[in-house]
Amino acid sequence: MTDAGPTLRRELVVATGNPGKCAEMEQILQGCGIRILTMAHFSDQPFEPDETGCTYMENAEIKALAACRMTGRVCVADDAGLEIDALDGVPGVYSRRFLGEDTPFPAKMARILEMLRDVPDEQRGCRFRAAVAIAIPDGAVIGCHGICEGRIGHEQRGTFGFGYDPIFLVPGLGKHMAELAPEVKHGISHRGQALARAREALAVLFDTVPPEG
Ligand code: IMP
Repeated sequence: MTDAGPTLRRELVVATGNPGKCAEMEQILQGCGIRILTMAHFSDQPFEPDETGCTYMENAEIKALAACRMTGRVCVADDAGLEIDALDGVPGVYSRRFLGEDTPFPAKMARILEMLRDVPDEQRGCRFRAAVAIAIPDGAVIGCHGICEGRIGHEQRGTFGFGYDPIFLVPGLGKHMAELAPEVKHGISHRGQALARAREALAVLFDTVPPEG
């Protein structure tokens, strides 16, 4: 663990330009005794570093380190994606860019449902995978992972969440991810798991920093 404690502020910046993800990360990290900030506190420009990594963790680190350089604060970023077994893991690390960044998610999901039209339920396995990186101003990075297993449903269902949630069936609950209230999703999701581990690391990191006020 880093020894940068005495120079750290008890603040954590959520380093994402994705509003859906930002809201989820803020909700999951709330109540951990650390002031949560977003990139909007530091700039009115969109936060969009190039995701040039080949893995979720490489991209999470790129985002966390870029934010850390901009803000001088401890920053947390995630990179996540949907892996579909019947498509050999596609869209995976390219989930956001699948069919082009500007293609709306309902169209991306409609295309996936069409590609899987004749695939039986037992071969519709998929998972959300998340990597979370915490970047500390001394240059250290802490990484955590989370996985949520599921199945691609046969239609888009639900209005909660974001991205591919409407086609992601959670078999144990018999519901699509977008049908789950946020706190239920956070309890089982890839991001919830990775951030729960990140919270433990943050508790240790900030333990050396006196609370403000
Ligand atoms: P990122 O912003 O580069 O991490 O892109 C990840 C992409 O994966 C998102 O834009 C979504 O398309 C998808 N994704 C990641 N996490 C979730 C989730 O919790 N629900 C639905 N889609 C997700």
